[in-house]
Amino acid sequence: MPGKTNKSNNPPPPAAGAASEEPPVVPLQRRCGTMAVHYRHLHSDPDYLRARAASETHYSAIVQGRRALARVGVTTIPVVVHVLFNTAQQNLSNAQIQSQIDVMNHDYRKTNPDVASAPAAFAPLAADARIQFTLATVDPNGAATTGITRTQTNSASFSDNDAMKSSATGGHDAWPRDKYLNIWTVPRLTSPQGDLLGYAQFPGGNAATDGVVILHSAFGTNGTAAAPFNLGRTATHEVGHWLNLHHIWGDDNNACTGSDLVADTPNQAGPNFGKPAFPHVTCNNGPNGDMFMNYMDYVDDAAMFLFTTGQVTRLQASLDSDRPTLGSSTSATSPILDTPVGTLKFGDDAPVTLKFRDDVPPPSLKFRDDGPPPSLKFRDDSPPSLKFRDDSPPSLKFRDDIPKLKITDDGIPQGPGGFGPGPGPLGAAFAGSGRTSAAPFVLSTPHHSMAWVQMFPQAAAEAVNSAEDQLRQYEEVLEQYGQADSAGQLSSAERQAAESIYADYASLVAEYRQLTGS
Ligand SMILES: [Zn+2]
Repeated sequence: MPGKTNKSNNPPPPAAGAASEEPPVVPLQRRCGTMAVHYRHLHSDPDYLRARAASETHYSAIVQGRRALARVGVTTIPVVVHVLFNTAQQNLSNAQIQSQIDVMNHDYRKTNPDVASAPAAFAPLAADARIQFTLATVDPNGAATTGITRTQTNSASFSDNDAMKSSATGGHDAWPRDKYLNIWTVPRLTSPQGDLLGYAQFPGGNAATDGVVILHSAFGTNGTAAAPFNLGRTATHEVGHWLNLHHIWGDDNNACTGSDLVADTPNQAGPNFGKPAFPHVTCNNGPNGDMFMNYMDYVDDAAMFLFTTGQVTRLQASLDSDRPTLGSSTSATSPILDTPVGTLKFGDDAPVTLKFRDDVPPPSLKFRDDGPPPSLKFRDDSPPSLKFRDDSPPSLKFRDDIPKLKITDDGIPQGPGGFGPGPGPLGAAFAGSGRTSAAPFVLSTPHHSMAWVQMFPQAAAEAVNSAEDQLRQYEEVLEQYGQADSAGQLSSAERQAAESIYADYASLVAEYRQLTGS
């Protein structure tokens, strides 16, 4: 293949052990194998079908407002890059790999400078996906790692049959998907339709093949990365699939009937290629036309630069339901329970919505009774109030050191220690120093009771220990009170207050034990 640049869409694969000067395969147009893999799994894997249905059910609940997203902060996902190389050239440098991570961190936080070139009609829809990526520092065995594996393979070319995902077939085994995003870079990626830039497995498939595959020359921004796919957007696109995003045109073969299941992206006939001129009208979607600058279209790297608010909702919903334990979050981290087991009501009225601020750790719910769980919302700004969907009461404030709250039918919190609808802002019960650990928070009503605990067993255990420490302290206080009482130094009101606090702590510890199984 003499020429400086390989312009063919289907060049012959380089021979094994080919010289490193061999120019990389560079498809002329973006082509992604995700949907073909998706259809193959749908037809061959009933578990995949069920998992996909469950995921869509969850997403529907989010879209319809029956549930809220569990993660409201930024989720950081550890990445492992499995470099499969046939020639030395394909053994990508650390710098090329890091450049890819950097691109995704810009694209998934909307800090990519080119988002500024969005047409005015679409610019307001561009959204921060609240995800960032980091090369893993700990491998599945707990050992230190660069987050990169390197495997020389006899395969000069792979297809979309997942062979690169197993050491038995010339690839490298996946790391556990509950802790890592697996990315394989490959010498070449073919399909019956032509060379692919990459493909992803949608959520819900086999764990052994979970992740994304990227052609090495479409990976990162330096080294072997080759124009027009040398800005790292192939991985941004494929990770979008891995987080449940569909192609923006709905994969309906220009029928204008398909959907990407996201409301704020225009209906669009088919993929756009290259660097389209705005507007490109299809499916009567004028005057603004296709949102071809979306990462989930097929344009060149330089022409795609945004996710929409609706897409962010979809990928965050998928994180909650499909990958609940993956990544660490700056705020709420645990998923809303999939199984409805409870509801919180005021009197006989409709279930309430609980809103919490962003810096709150709690996030997982356990309910005692039947019914749908309330939705959770977190906010970015300051201290804790509970807000309810119905009109009364609009807001409840908490005091810093009150770990337990009782809500009466009229919505007025009452309890020992005088806490109630206080003057606020009070709140370290949810925010600030008082909530730095995972101490559970218990809500109870005359009808229902529920508790918030961290999903993670270790955190829950620590919360129990913390509560037991508190209990011991109160036992000491009570003993002192008892002595003071015997000596006639304590008023009956003071004694009752102390006993009431003690009783609350005792029941709290019992709840923790029940909830955590400790
Ligand atoms: Zn795709």
